[in-house]
Amino acid sequence: MPSYPESVASLIAEFERMPGIGRRTAERLAQHVLRIPSEDALRLAEAIRKVKERVRPCAVCFNMAEADPCHICGDPLRDPSLICVVEQPKDLVAIEETGTYRGLYHVLYGTISPLDGVGPEDLTIDALAARAAKGGVSEVILALNPDIEGDGTSLYIAKKLEKTRVKVTRISSGVARGSAIDRSSKSALSESLRLRKPSA
Ligand SMILES: [Zn+2]
Repeated sequence: MPSYPESVASLIAEFERMPGIGRRTAERLAQHVLRIPSEDALRLAEAIRKVKERVRPCAVCFNMAEADPCHICGDPLRDPSLICVVEQPKDLVAIEETGTYRGLYHVLYGTISPLDGVGPEDLTIDALAARAAKGGVSEVILALNPDIEGDGTSLYIAKKLEKTRVKVTRISSGVARGSAIDRSSKSALSESLRLRKPSA
């Protein structure tokens, strides 16, 4: 980027590394940062610094949290015999927003996807199996997205948990096939949780 000053070029390059941000959007965001008052731009920088300093994955469920264990794992009013498995923290947030689920969670950080080079060892599946095997867990609810990777990962987990004798269920098709968990309506998501079925 020879026509931009070095500092601007490097800001554009940082924005461009973000998911879903192309070159043109990165340039627009950089223009925006250049235009806004210093204190606004520094507040953004500070917000980034704060999350990087404070937020860590919970050692139990891997949810992003400022406390360890996270506020959900540490809540004595939640039912520790239920573990709901989700792909990403945003799915956990979507389920929490339904207000109907009172168990714990487990965040995988993705799905098994051989084409993208993601194997089971790249996810938190071993830790999930260890939690299920430890006792005190009666049901693992798989709430992965209804796509090929979500289906494959659900099957893999169900198989992996077979010998723990913990009941493994999947949320039902209240979440329409192809529509992501974090984009489902609250009522559809609560229904699909309520109408969960044994994982085949
Ligand atoms: Zn936790």
